[in-house]
Amino acid sequence: MADKIKMTTPLVEMDGDEMTRIIWKMIKDILLTPYIDLKTEYYDLGLQHRDDTNDQVTFDSANATKKYGVAVKCATITPNADRVKEYNLKEMWKSPNGTIRAILDGTVFRTPIVVKGITPFISTWKKPITIARHAYGDVYKNTEMQVSAGSKAELVVTDAQGKETRSLIHDFTGDGIVQGLHNTDASISSFARACFNYALDLKQDLWFATKDTISKKYDHRFKDIFREIYDAEYKEKFEAAGIEYFYTLIDDAVARVIRSEGGYIWACKNYDGDVMSDMVATAFGSLAMMTSVLVSPDGTYEYEAAHGTVQRHYYKHLKGEKTSTNSMATLFAWTGALRKRGELDHIPELVDFANKLEQASIQTIEDGVMTGDLYLLSTLENKTKVDTETFLHEINNRLVKLL
Ligand code: NAP
Ligand code: MG
Repeated sequence: MADKIKMTTPLVEMDGDEMTRIIWKMIKDILLTPYIDLKTEYYDLGLQHRDDTNDQVTFDSANATKKYGVAVKCATITPNADRVKEYNLKEMWKSPNGTIRAILDGTVFRTPIVVKGITPFISTWKKPITIARHAYGDVYKNTEMQVSAGSKAELVVTDAQGKETRSLIHDFTGDGIVQGLHNTDASISSFARACFNYALDLKQDLWFATKDTISKKYDHRFKDIFREIYDAEYKEKFEAAGIEYFYTLIDDAVARVIRSEGGYIWACKNYDGDVMSDMVATAFGSLAMMTSVLVSPDGTYEYEAAHGTVQRHYYKHLKGEKTSTNSMATLFAWTGALRKRGELDHIPELVDFANKLEQASIQTIEDGVMTGDLYLLSTLENKTKVDTETFLHEINNRLVKLL
């Protein structure tokens, strides 16, 4: 066999939990280390080790990502009361994804892997739609109250000099409710830059929508910040790349998305992204085919699968039963990270390897060889359901021919 592909900068490797941790090792053993002199800086984000290090390992892995620029992450357990008991935890540690996102100030982009035989519910969709969700503020950091009849609700802002500005929200003649929201120019700007950078990366159009006709200050501020940053920093780059930044109203955007053939990035405010990412993911077919990348405004990348640790399959695995867990999204986290590392370090063989590995895995499913989740959805006539490990070997059989 030819020499293994060499890497120059380490990839930050964040290992995780349960079934995805099992898949993680299989992917490395079967599809990566036979071909690449894999250079990673390893962080064990498995729940046991997070507990042992008082979650320091999560912070260290995020800081390493800042240093090196590219990370690949396995799904991890976000502890709840059951997990605290199950793992005998010192504390109910925070979501690693939340911690990493806060440190990197990043935006999450989710893209489905599109294959023949898994048909989107929306028949016009031919190419993936990538959703970017602004993950700060609005209704997720709200203040709300129930209000009784006869109350007057006002918006009061006190500036740094102590000067108050007031604005009437409502005079309540009956009982009601009131809510306060905020966002910051800094957070909106980071979101905008992450979206513009990622659109240039993918060479795809960027769509953004708010309700600025109704929300003339709040939503309008989002629209203005995107426009100002676009005009000052990205317009020429977009024109050179032959892509477009397109702003419209959220209801118009929804209608256009449904009529579109896909192939663009859709940037959403926090709530819109929450709702629309579940709609888009479901309409494309399978959670196990949804990839995710966290992009920071200064251009660091953390790749992962959008699904969780597939706990139910893991318990079967522990009982010695064979599982049929889909490894596509986790595999694409690796290929995404390796391709990006190859691009940044000018290693064309690494980029080529990542592309061929993706090609081989898509070909496997289009040849009718797939895991149970896809087997239920696929419209192919000749299809076979295989177990977790066999699926990876089948990919390898095709990869060998492509290399
Ligand atoms: P999940 O792991 O995404 O799995 C939910 C169900 O979806 C599975 O039981 C399985 O259905 C199906 N599924 C998901 N991924 C699949 C795959 N790759 N192949 C085949 N089927 C797949 O969500 P969860 O069970 O709600 O969460 C489990 C743990 O993951 C939790 O502790 C949660 O905190 C964590 N989590 C982590 C992340 C992350 O790290 N990014 C994200 C979400 C959740 P069937 O059982 O019907 O086969
Ligand atoms: Mg949601």
